This record gives sequence, structure tokens and C-alpha cells, in this order.
Amino acid sequence: MSAVVGRGDKLIRAGREWKCCCPFHVEKSASFYVNDAKGFAHCFGCGWHGDIVRFVMDRQGCDFREAYNRLANDDLPTWAPAERAKAIAEQRLEDLAKEQDARQFYKVSVPIAGTPGEVYLRARGITIQPPDVVRFGMVPSWRDPESGDWGRKRPAIICGAQDATGAVVGIQRIFFEKDDPRRGRKDCKLSLGTIRGSALRLAPAGPCIVMAEGPEDGLSIMQEGPGLPVWVPFGTSMMPQVQYPPQVRKVIIAGQNNTPGRVAANKAAIALADLGLEVSFVWPSSRFDDWNDQLRGVANDG
Ligand SMILES: [Zn+2]
Repeated sequence: MSAVVGRGDKLIRAGREWKCCCPFHVEKSASFYVNDAKGFAHCFGCGWHGDIVRFVMDRQGCDFREAYNRLANDDLPTWAPAERAKAIAEQRLEDLAKEQDARQFYKVSVPIAGTPGEVYLRARGITIQPPDVVRFGMVPSWRDPESGDWGRKRPAIICGAQDATGAVVGIQRIFFEKDDPRRGRKDCKLSLGTIRGSALRLAPAGPCIVMAEGPEDGLSIMQEGPGLPVWVPFGTSMMPQVQYPPQVRKVIIAGQNNTPGRVAANKAAIALADLGLEVSFVWPSSRFDDWNDQLRGVANDG
């Protein structure tokens, strides 16, 4: 892996590993570590984590098949450092602008009690008072790429995505306007800002933490197990990217009962174990697809 990373990024020895400035975020000191023995690399700055194929996919912006073919055929162009730095700086500016939009939408949101957001959650069987980081707001779902104008504002649940310091750096918007609550799954979820590495913290972390797939799953688990430290990383694949506080030793993945859910959970577990965390799973009873279905008693056999 170091041979491939070393084509574009200057590696220096760091014990049994190699390190360099991270190709995926702007930094002055190296926090991107390549471990040839384990076959993965990890960035302690932005949380990027992956193997050689993932590295080529993200570095070259290509899909799995192309990355695989490039590796197989030894066809990996090197990037000119100046060009690369410019591309990273431009990307960084774009990311910062999105983060600012997310912060602004979060700022104008209100506590969820007494709002249509609370009605939506109740229709999903969630009757506990969510923490303040689950809010309600009138926000747009899209932006015109040409003019930069935002679309019409629509009611949404706003979930704050927090970074390692607890600051909100992104949001997930759950739009439910045209949604019939009985159909449940037709809601539309859109993220904005910095989602990778951040999480919706429904409760303070302890030495052990429960990671749920989405906000409704997380709130359902908290309702059934009051006091559980539940976080939501906005997708199972993001679980290894989350910046866990130092006291976290164990991650319990609260999975979903479907094939993609199980595959994603297993993949996340391997990456989390690579980071030195103890990992275990908890699944809804087999009659239910996810934790919210279990809470509501909506079995998957109809
Ligand atoms: Zn990084």
C-alpha cells in the first residue's frame, strides 16, 4: 500500500508504519498513517480510513471496478503536487461554505416540542423527548447549482452532526411534508456540511457506545433502553470515521435486519476493530427490519 500512496504523497518512516500529509484534507503536519502489514491507512486528522482499493477510489475519484483495474494493470498516474494542493484548497472552500450553510440552518431551527417534527416522531412511535440536538426547522432541500439560490423552504427535522469537540458542523434534514406517516419509509433524508467523522449525539458517550443506523433507529433504541449512550453516524459506513472520545473502548453496532445492513455492519466492525475498539452487535428481533419497526410492532412479514 505504501508503494501506491508514495506515488503521489511523500512518505516518511514512522516506526513500522509510513506517514504523510493527508491527501484528503489540508494539513501541515503528517497525520495520514499507512500500515503495510495490516493493509490499510488511517488519517488521525479527518478520519479517512481504508484499504488500497478505497484509497485509489477516493484519490482518483473513480469507482471500485476502475480502481481495481488500475491497480491490476499498474496504471496509476501521479498528481502534480501544485495541482493537487489547488484542488484540495478549492474543495476545502466548497466544504467550508456547505458547513456554514448547515450551521445557519441549525441556528434558525427550534426545539422540536410542539412542532410538526414532534408529530412526525410520534407517528413513528417515538414518544420520548429527543435531546436538543434533534430540532425542527423550515429549510430548503436543494440549491440551484447555477445561480446558487436555495429552493423553497419546507418543514424538516434537523439533526445536528457534531465533530470531536461537540460543535455542530453538519446537519441531516428529514423532510416529511408529503409523507403519510403510515407509509413510514417515504421520508427524504439529506445531509449538508461535514458528515464524515461527525455524529448525532443523542446522549453523552461512556466507555461503551451504541451506534445506530439513523436518527429514528437511535431514538427508538433510547426509548426502549433509557439511559443508553446512543450516537448516530449518518450511515453505517461512516461508523469507523467517527471521532470517538478517548473514554470510548467499546462500540455496539445496532444493526438492521437486511442484507445490505448486515454487510455494512460487518465491514464497519472490521474497521473499528482495526482502530483498537472492542466491537459487538445487537440486532432487532428477526421479525422486524429495524429498531423503529420493532418499537412500533411492525413485523416484516406484514
Ligand atoms: Zn485526513
